[in-house]
Amino acid sequence: MPAYRGRFAPSPTGPLHFGSLVAAVASYLDARQAGGDWLVRIEDLDPPREAPGSADQIVAALATLGFEWNESIVRQSTRQPLYEDALQRLLAAGDAFRCSCSRAEIEAALTSTTTPGEELRYPGWCRDGVRMPERVTAVRFRTPPGEIVFRDAIQGTICVDVAAEVGDFVIRRRDGWFAYQLAVVVDDAAQGITHVVRGADLLRNTPRQLLLQRALGLSSPAYAHVPVATDRNGVKLSKSGGAAAIDLARPNRELWRTLRFLQQDPPRELLEGSLAELWSWAIAHWRSASVRSLYSAPVADV
Ligand code: GLU
Repeated sequence: MPAYRGRFAPSPTGPLHFGSLVAAVASYLDARQAGGDWLVRIEDLDPPREAPGSADQIVAALATLGFEWNESIVRQSTRQPLYEDALQRLLAAGDAFRCSCSRAEIEAALTSTTTPGEELRYPGWCRDGVRMPERVTAVRFRTPPGEIVFRDAIQGTICVDVAAEVGDFVIRRRDGWFAYQLAVVVDDAAQGITHVVRGADLLRNTPRQLLLQRALGLSSPAYAHVPVATDRNGVKLSKSGGAAAIDLARPNRELWRTLRFLQQDPPRELLEGSLAELWSWAIAHWRSASVRSLYSAPVADV
């Protein structure tokens, strides 16, 4: 295996949009400049949020944009036994526990108001035994106390107290689907990923993934989180919101915009040349050190 294996892991919640293109380009350039492999993994573990057909659409868009991936594309929906195995190991070691609490119950117990979809800090009710075993249960990771510190290649030193922020987090949902945190850790390890380059919206998830890797005895990849693309008002270009669609009829323009967003200073001539010319310039000139260490940044106008 090469010393560098990177990946792009989109969730099929809509067509590829500018925000995810930024993660795709940054991870691709970082891998290719290092002479490494670059894999594509479809993270289709959340059917309620999935947009039918979008996995194929994303893959077709990547091909049109000239990305070349190694190995065949993996779909998480086909890998349940791997996640189940990891889950059983965590349960057997006491690093995970079953939980019967509903979101509504946790929300009701909190003193501050919450917004829909917001992550809640779990109060630990089922830590020492399921409160209502007759219910269908989720499985939570038993988060140890204390801060997790790691060095992000773009964002610098990141320090998160997972126990204080979210507490014991869900690794298998009550509806039976494995949670992103567990699946991503299992797959990054199974695919031999050495470097994860992705959007900074996932920055605060990384310490949870480091904890899971530690508990499962897996080595941790290096992490780099690129800024999240926003509109002029600072609103994230949401995949599901239909924002910032990519014009696949103009791949050079879209990739050029992405390089600009990533502060790579692409020459204007690349807008007129071939896709191959653009990629070879981008791979040769990629500098992760130029990417701003910001959580988010507005998309520059071309
Ligand atoms: N599937 C996640 C997303 O589309 C990305 C996961 C990752 O890169 O770790 O937001």
